[in-house]
Amino acid sequence: MTIKNKLRAGFGFLFLLAFVCSGLSIYYLNRLSDDSSLILKDNHETIVYMRNIGVVIDENSGELNTTQIKTIESNLVKQEHNITEPGEQQATDSLRSKYEQLKLLNNSPARLISLRAEIRKFLYKIMKLNMDAEEHKNVVAKATAANATLLVGIIASFLFLVAFTFIINFPGYVADPIKELTERIKEISNRNYHQQLDFKSNDEFGELAQAFNTMTFKLDEYEHSNLASIMFEKKRIETIINSMHDAIIGLDERSLIIFVNEVACSLIGLPAEKLTGKYAPDIALENDLLRNLLVNDQHKMKIFADNRESYFSKEILSVTSEDRIIGKVIILKNITEFQQLDEAKTNFIATISHELKTPISSIKMSLKLLEDDRIGQVNTEQRQLLGNIDDDTRRLLQITGELLDMAQVETGKLNLNFGSTHPQNIVDYAVKAVKFTAEQKQVTISVSYEENLPEVRADLDKTTWVLINLLSNAIKYSHERSSVDLVVKRGKGSDVEFSVTDHGQGIEAKYLPRIFERYFKVPGSKAEQTGTGLGLAIAKDFIEAQSGKINVESDLGGGSRFYFTLKKVA
Ligand code: ADP
Repeated sequence: MTIKNKLRAGFGFLFLLAFVCSGLSIYYLNRLSDDSSLILKDNHETIVYMRNIGVVIDENSGELNTTQIKTIESNLVKQEHNITEPGEQQATDSLRSKYEQLKLLNNSPARLISLRAEIRKFLYKIMKLNMDAEEHKNVVAKATAANATLLVGIIASFLFLVAFTFIINFPGYVADPIKELTERIKEISNRNYHQQLDFKSNDEFGELAQAFNTMTFKLDEYEHSNLASIMFEKKRIETIINSMHDAIIGLDERSLIIFVNEVACSLIGLPAEKLTGKYAPDIALENDLLRNLLVNDQHKMKIFADNRESYFSKEILSVTSEDRIIGKVIILKNITEFQQLDEAKTNFIATISHELKTPISSIKMSLKLLEDDRIGQVNTEQRQLLGNIDDDTRRLLQITGELLDMAQVETGKLNLNFGSTHPQNIVDYAVKAVKFTAEQKQVTISVSYEENLPEVRADLDKTTWVLINLLSNAIKYSHERSSVDLVVKRGKGSDVEFSVTDHGQGIEAKYLPRIFERYFKVPGSKAEQTGTGLGLAIAKDFIEAQSGKINVESDLGGGSRFYFTLKKVA
């Protein structure tokens, strides 16, 4: 039976009991009222009639007068219509006959007295009959009342018991399964899916239990299949991470360490058990490396590992889920070998360029001598060839010079001679240096200064070198008979900005971020064949070594603007 029907039946039953109880009470009250009305009505009235007649009989002992006869007559007639008890009819008839005799009698005082006495006897008899009846009916009424009290009492007690049991049990009947269900749901929220409800009933709770049990079974099944595959994936990823030569540390969004591989453990100097699950900043308090990893944003790190100074490049990857950062992975790549190779390369380049400089200079010297008429006359073709050799040696010298500069920067051997100088000095030197090239291409260099420029703190040679480089490039990539604008003005804060703008071919936007990289040349440009791709990289190093900034803006087909800043003298 469903709970709805059970409730209906329960309340219906209670209602029925209450109905029966009140019905019985009404029935017995009616009976009691009937009994008592009987007592009052019939027997009591008879007694009253008899008493009325008795009063008249006792008034005198003579003949009856008219009033007395009237009174007796009316009361006797009423009595004759109110016969209720056995023997009452007989006594009333006898009373009637004695009265009739008394009515007719006269002049016989003795007979009058005896008749009156007989009448009194019947009066008393009738009265007694009715009084006995009253007494009897009283007993009956009492019995009815007692029965009613008993029956109503029994039914009321029964009703009370039923209601009491109902009140005690019913809330539990509804609430207990709900309570149990709540407990099980709490367990489920703790991922404890082995939960079963044992409601045997065929009602809604039974159905609920069945649905719940199916759900927990499915959840358990899903959890296990999921857990197994997650565990498998975890093991696989752990194996991959551990077999890597890079140090890997995973942190969650609260900076708790989720995983560290063996390389990371050996670098940090702590076993995995002491790291996993710990709050990384806590461990960083006592561990320099971890502190540097968390705080330091430098990408290249020198760490003592494998019994030697090793170089690591640090990379921090953010782990995101639904546009929210849920953790990060720190990767330390061991780049010691690359570093050593790079150093070897730089040293090699430095040595070679240095070694090449002397023979190239002597070639230049010899060329100068050959061009001198005192050594001997050369014909036009030979002069042409000598010119070509001169051009190439100049380029060779420039290239070796750039390579040497770059090697200097890379080995950190860049020596800067800082001094305070007016921006105009730098501009004058540079413009003078590129004047000839510009004239050859009929490119005009227009120079403009902001008024009252402050002096800048700079290495005059290196800065001039940078400006020459920018101007040479601007001329190189300008169309013939165009112009190059050199503007010097105040920049942000304490900066002075030098900018070189050409109206040449420009640079495609996708190459701009790489333009200051070493050996980078824009693919397809004419410099690809001639240049080294080092000029801008060295310029960047020179400017940044002087705490300045260098950058570029360009518009493909419209020209480029290269600009750098220097600090003014404090
Ligand atoms: P290179 O010695 O090859 O000129 P740079 O470092 O000076 O090397 O320049 C790198 C590359 O940047 C060049 O190959 C060229 O493609 C591009 N570039 C430099 N300046 C300009 C410019 N003013 N206009 C267009 N391209 C330029």
